[in-house]
Amino acid sequence: MGCTAQDITTALRAGAAVVAEHRDELIQLDREIGDADHGENMDRGFRAVIAKLDTAGPETPAATLKLAATVLISTVGGASGPLYGTAFLRAATAVGDDTELDGRAVAAALQAGMEGVVARGRAEVGDKTMIDALSPAVEAARSVAESGADGAKVLAAAAEAAHQGAQDTEGLVARKGRASYLGERSAGHVDPGARSTALLLTAFAEAAGA
Ligand code: ADP
Ligand code: MG
Ligand code: MG
Repeated sequence: MGCTAQDITTALRAGAAVVAEHRDELIQLDREIGDADHGENMDRGFRAVIAKLDTAGPETPAATLKLAATVLISTVGGASGPLYGTAFLRAATAVGDDTELDGRAVAAALQAGMEGVVARGRAEVGDKTMIDALSPAVEAARSVAESGADGAKVLAAAAEAAHQGAQDTEGLVARKGRASYLGERSAGHVDPGARSTALLLTAFAEAAGA
């Protein structure tokens, strides 16, 4: 099965639903090591994405991803808005003119998205950020895509790896973002952005039929 603009729209709706469902959990995680707004930021942003999808009806995968990017950048606020926005923007560029994405294209889009987050936020693996969920997700996606898996299977592998990566942020000391102000005291808590990344990837995979 390929992944069309309609499939990406469905995935973004599923992403908005999971963010709304986990809003309080993300707020609580951010309360522990940040400023308690990550759930609110993400919920506001994804609600706005869904509203815009309803009116704009983008016709290609790239246009759909680009719409998500611009809405997230303008509505989320906080560090995560420009970072997620850049991820979707780079993913849009990576898919180019394709009207239907195969597993390799999905993996490439995910990788481009992560590279966008790194270019913007300069975090490395181990800094206790969304990169600690994205990086293992990209690796898993690439290896599953190389075996010829479709987009849904690629996303499922990415999501599973992202959940492990997010869980593993618990032991890390933050070196980027607000949580880094806490120094050693940031250890013992899961990073909210890594958690939201894992939740989104699971929603995308389930929407894709994994
Ligand atoms: P803010 O910190 O401005 O309140 P959010 O609470 O919405 O923004 O998002 C915080 C999340 O953003 C963190 O949990 C982390 O995953 C991510 N983050 C922050 N800074 C960076 C960075 N430089 N690179 C990658 N991710 C980052
Ligand atoms: Mg915050
Ligand atoms: Mg904030």
